[in-house]
Amino acid sequence: MADESVQREALIAAIENVAARIEEEKSYLTELDSAIGDADHGNNMHRGFQAVAEKTDDFEGMSPGDIVKTVGTTIIGNVGGAAGPLYGGSLMTASQELDDGITAETSVAFAEAYLDKVKDRGDAPVGAKTMVDALTPAVHTYKKSVEQDDLAPLTAFAKAVDAAERGVEFTVPIKALKGRASFLDWRSVGHQDPGATSTYIIMEEILKTAEEYLDGDTDAEAVAETVPDETPGDGE
Ligand code: ADP
Ligand code: MG
Repeated sequence: MADESVQREALIAAIENVAARIEEEKSYLTELDSAIGDADHGNNMHRGFQAVAEKTDDFEGMSPGDIVKTVGTTIIGNVGGAAGPLYGGSLMTASQELDDGITAETSVAFAEAYLDKVKDRGDAPVGAKTMVDALTPAVHTYKKSVEQDDLAPLTAFAKAVDAAERGVEFTVPIKALKGRASFLDWRSVGHQDPGATSTYIIMEEILKTAEEYLDGDTDAEAVAETVPDETPGDGE
């Protein structure tokens, strides 16, 4: 993996890009939350990431773990609702896994700790129509790709982002069992979960930034090898 200064630079860029993307997606996230919640998810996420973006100057001298921890505390301090403590608290806790820097191993530990904390705090199983539905397949895919399939972290992360996207789609036809959307019972069916969507959007933006900064870590051949080839007769 890249050395700490490159990691820091990439991390700060990722945070800035996520903040900008959340700003772009604010109305979309709020629209999703207006269908099955209280129409504040876009504003909540935007407020949190704007506060984070204002702190990026402080990040220059910090370790990657401390930067992620500060992102977590800033989100907790600025975002109410269900998503604020879930995002912020989980980032804070999981940031401890990055104390020795970002490596393939610590990134898997970070991802698992993040998911564990979200589940612990929110008590939502897979299938409750929450951010857990995007996160769980993403984290499992990342872990398996790194540990079992021996893929480069960036390649593994690209697969995790795909898994998160499918997780978002999975939230549409199911009934909400947790959070505000659960008050709607069956009326929540047919709507996409806002928190799963923001989770996917954030991951996608991190991936884009990582691809830019950690180009040398990309294993293009492995990506090609792992593209699913089960599509029958796709005319290639
Ligand atoms: P609020 O629901 O308090 O208005 P937000 O609108 O910001 O907060 O966030 C809503 C999102 O939070 C949901 O779309 C869902 O993904 C997530 N969420 C809500 N409750 C839980 C929970 N118990 N566990 C995991 N995620 C949850
Ligand atoms: Mg809401």
